[in-house]
Amino acid sequence: MTGNTGNTGNMPTYVGMPSFPVAAKKAVADSQLRRNLTHATTAIRTKRLRAVGELDDWEQLRQAGKAIKDHTLANLDTYLVRLEENVVKAGGHVHWARDADEANAIVTNLVQQAKADTVVKVKSMATQEIGLNEALAASGIKAIETDLAELIVQLGDDLPSHILVPAIHKNRAEIGELFRRTMPDAPADLSDDPPQLAAAARTHLRHEFLNAKVGISGANFAIADTGSLVVVESEGNGRMCLTLPDTLISVVGVEKLLPSWRDLEVFLALLPRSSTAERMNPYTTIWTGVAASDGPKDFHLVLIDNGRTATLADKVGRQALRCIRCSACLNVCPVYERAGGHAYGSPYPGPIGAILSPQLRGISSPLDASLPFASSLCGACYEVCPVAINIPEVLVELRARSVENQHHYAERAVFSMAAFMLRSPTRLAAAQRATSFGRHFIGRSGRIRRLPPPLSAWTDTRDAPAPPPESFRAWWARTHGTTSLESGTSGTPIAPPKTNKTPQDPAT
Ligand code: SF4
Repeated sequence: MTGNTGNTGNMPTYVGMPSFPVAAKKAVADSQLRRNLTHATTAIRTKRLRAVGELDDWEQLRQAGKAIKDHTLANLDTYLVRLEENVVKAGGHVHWARDADEANAIVTNLVQQAKADTVVKVKSMATQEIGLNEALAASGIKAIETDLAELIVQLGDDLPSHILVPAIHKNRAEIGELFRRTMPDAPADLSDDPPQLAAAARTHLRHEFLNAKVGISGANFAIADTGSLVVVESEGNGRMCLTLPDTLISVVGVEKLLPSWRDLEVFLALLPRSSTAERMNPYTTIWTGVAASDGPKDFHLVLIDNGRTATLADKVGRQALRCIRCSACLNVCPVYERAGGHAYGSPYPGPIGAILSPQLRGISSPLDASLPFASSLCGACYEVCPVAINIPEVLVELRARSVENQHHYAERAVFSMAAFMLRSPTRLAAAQRATSFGRHFIGRSGRIRRLPPPLSAWTDTRDAPAPPPESFRAWWARTHGTTSLESGTSGTPIAPPKTNKTPQDPAT
């Protein structure tokens, strides 16, 4: 593979976005958004649980998916060259792009060569990542999203907020209003009824499908042994984009590779159940190069790095490249459910975004440095991930790096101070006495609501219980006549202090 230099990538559309806590604060205050998210994620979560529960060997499938991905990533150089050879053998062309700028330049050039000023697109995370629509627009080329949710996002001049359901933050009333306002061919009496909205979008897109000279897609998988590309989808718009235009350009991250057809079998079982909670996807389109009798006459595969080889070099973080973009981790994440997808400042929101974006882009901006902290570390994401990515493990690793790098000076100072106190029983006792005394000033109501900087970083978004009037150590010394917790003064184990209460008595 040429051009794979281990660079970190960029996501042009998201440059300059605020850090996660700043963006999330705004999102959390939007009660309509929270209602939309809770409703949608709860429904998908419940359905997924049912679909996965149908298979007795789900855990084995999951481990097989993990093993195939790990093997492929460990031998990526071999399989990428094999893929290139087989795509070319089947009549396609392969282009290598180090970063977003290179990928955008390649695609723009190909569209211009096809003499097209409009392209139809099937939903693709990779093209969102590189900001392809904006790059095409800068060259006077209009990109039309044909996935219903992506169309909603595009018409609203919005950004996607979920991997599977990019318009999850909008409800049907908001979508109806958007269509009536922005879709010139929408019926005048268009209601908010979902079948009516879908019919309006279908009519709107039909003309574009039939006239497009160029289709642009991503791919869920690329098969090295045959040079085949695979797209799974639910609406049939993908099938039209992939078959009707004369030129097809597929923009694919290098990590989407699978060695063989046998491997695909595992992922076609894992992906639909984890994403749409279906036994299989309604449309699975597979193509290999070009055929004289059918489909596009010109096929180009643009393989992008954009930070992936740098991620692959990281022993802990590389597992993020196993991701098959099913979105199951988003639907179980309590942080995502409250903050929504936009706060993550990337096309990859939720737990996977919190570990993937800072690795693809590097932890240099306040946004990327904050993403590994956008988690409660509850582990629900790891439990549902169909390729067993240990997201909490990567989060903790990235947090450590983020602290080491440059940010969180206050946190480092607080922990250094805590270490200093905890090393000496005398210092600890003095600190506890001072804290208990402090409750008279900062916690009179029983809660601490505001602390001075840098501790205000905590109380800005939550309060804390006031310190107790007496520390546990002081209470122990008072009731047992010793400060040792191991034994009494005689060296024998200590009995609990005499009390009239039974063990069931609630604390007072
Ligand atoms: S990290 Fe796992 S659960 Fe999350 S989108 Fe990727 S494959 Fe799905």
